[in-house]
Amino acid sequence: MAVEVFKNLFKQSQESGYFSFKKLSQELSILSPKSREKQGVSYNDTEQKIIAETKAAIVKNFCLNSAIMNTDKFNISILNGFMELLDDETNSEKNLAQSFFLLHASKSDFSNIKCSKDIIINILKNLWSIDTNVDQEEYSEYHSMFQTLIKSKNIIKNITNVMNELIEEINKPLYNYSNLKLIFFNSDFDTLCGFSGKDRIYINTLPFTKISQYRCFSSEVKEIALKLEFVRLFIHETSHVVLRYYLGNLNLSSPYLKNESNYKIKKSVIECGIESEKKIFQEVIDWDRSIDNRYNLTYCKKFLNDILSDKFEIFDTEKAEVVLIPPEDIPKVTFSIRFHEKLRGF
Ligand SMILES: [Zn+2]
Repeated sequence: MAVEVFKNLFKQSQESGYFSFKKLSQELSILSPKSREKQGVSYNDTEQKIIAETKAAIVKNFCLNSAIMNTDKFNISILNGFMELLDDETNSEKNLAQSFFLLHASKSDFSNIKCSKDIIINILKNLWSIDTNVDQEEYSEYHSMFQTLIKSKNIIKNITNVMNELIEEINKPLYNYSNLKLIFFNSDFDTLCGFSGKDRIYINTLPFTKISQYRCFSSEVKEIALKLEFVRLFIHETSHVVLRYYLGNLNLSSPYLKNESNYKIKKSVIECGIESEKKIFQEVIDWDRSIDNRYNLTYCKKFLNDILSDKFEIFDTEKAEVVLIPPEDIPKVTFSIRFHEKLRGF
């Protein structure tokens, strides 16, 4: 229903050239008193049903997002990509990826970020560019690292510990990591690192390509930093997948978790992906800037080898001489983006 209401309003708004999410929200609340509640997307449905439910949830998420509701009118042309997504009913990896990206983006809290309107416009304008039709062979080295990481007892233990800290008593069997898929995608988003879906983690190729093209650093310096960035993203995005599996809802994210009849939340955290990263790396590391800062290659190379052989101690950020992202710069969003001077490029 929410999708139909959106489509109708989109058509009606063609003449004026502007779309109002406030009007959309009013129309939804007339039709359903529950429109002020977030719509769940069940983890256990078929993919076809998940795609349909996700789209309705996105429309509602937009109406619950204060950064969007505080913007009076959007130029209608920026919504063309979203309309195409709503009309696409194919059960494809690309449709699934774009739907999950927007599911998370539509509820992201940009309140602590300047130019939140620009970010939203950028998300909507460049959504179509997310394309999973990537030669995965090119990333075969990362795929083999992925196969190692999903079997790492220590990484799984750390993610499980975060889940146990967040949820009261988990009544489900351990997440089956062999269900997890790694999907690289191309896009025009240069500061989007990745996001997660149902049993899938999505990694953007663009930041990887950019870093590997840096001219003034040795290929080893770039390779080790990129591999550790991949490990960081793996831990971050996988923990979102696992949390949503335990809670049975794909439209959930920290820090907005609340108790439901089937589970109890123990503590609220800003971001469950970041909690999981910190279990291993202590802090959130900016690997791009760490390259500029000439991180300690010997230490980091050894740590990467230790991780891949599943024998590692906690990462020592001082010895590693890496650049950290301060907590106040960490956005409350459920996908990984780097926020710095390149923000407008996102
Ligand atoms: Zn996250």
